[in-house]
Amino acid sequence: MTSILMAEDEERISTFVEKGLRAAGFDCTIATDGATALALGQSGQFQLMILDIGLPVLNGFEVLRRLRRTDASLPVIMLTARHSIDDTVAGLDDGANDYLTKPFRLDELLARIRLRLRESGASEGSELRHGSLRLDLRTRKGQVGDTVVELSAREFALAEEFLKHPGQVLTHEQLLSRVWGYDFDPTSNVVEVYVRYLRTKLGPDVIETIRGTGYRLR
Ligand code: CA
Repeated sequence: MTSILMAEDEERISTFVEKGLRAAGFDCTIATDGATALALGQSGQFQLMILDIGLPVLNGFEVLRRLRRTDASLPVIMLTARHSIDDTVAGLDDGANDYLTKPFRLDELLARIRLRLRESGASEGSELRHGSLRLDLRTRKGQVGDTVVELSAREFALAEEFLKHPGQVLTHEQLLSRVWGYDFDPTSNVVEVYVRYLRTKLGPDVIETIRGTGYRLR
């Protein structure tokens, strides 16, 4: 599993991002100050770092400068407030690979992460296939035969989960935790609703209901 380090001292943001990353199939570790972020970033156990500029102990720029002395390759995405874009451009010169201004959308962050991972060769293929079904992990679009299908972020994440485990029964709880990623009410019918959406878009027989257990990609 791809491990991402997130250096962010605002719990509200780090919790939100952590849930999103986990739901998207990434492993995520949070560092709440710059010194910890630097030590973890240098540990070699991460494939990408999301780095907030405003951090206690060492700020994001300092973390980046020190990291780049020993590690030129770890992809780093900087997070910045909108009013400090000039600083961030300076940060790009210091070796950041990309930056995102706060507030950002989760799907935007995920798209940047995938792009940077692909550039660094750390991610798997950019496409999932099963029968006539294809998911382009780059454009986040589905395809059935030759027809391109537009999927919402959540529909795509759910379809991705099925295509990663073809023929395997995925339980309601597994899908809830992997795709929604937070303490969703286990009695919620959100999975059922989204499976229905996918059947409408990808074909009525694509996902089989295993009564009392979950679902399976045929
Ligand atoms: Ca901060």
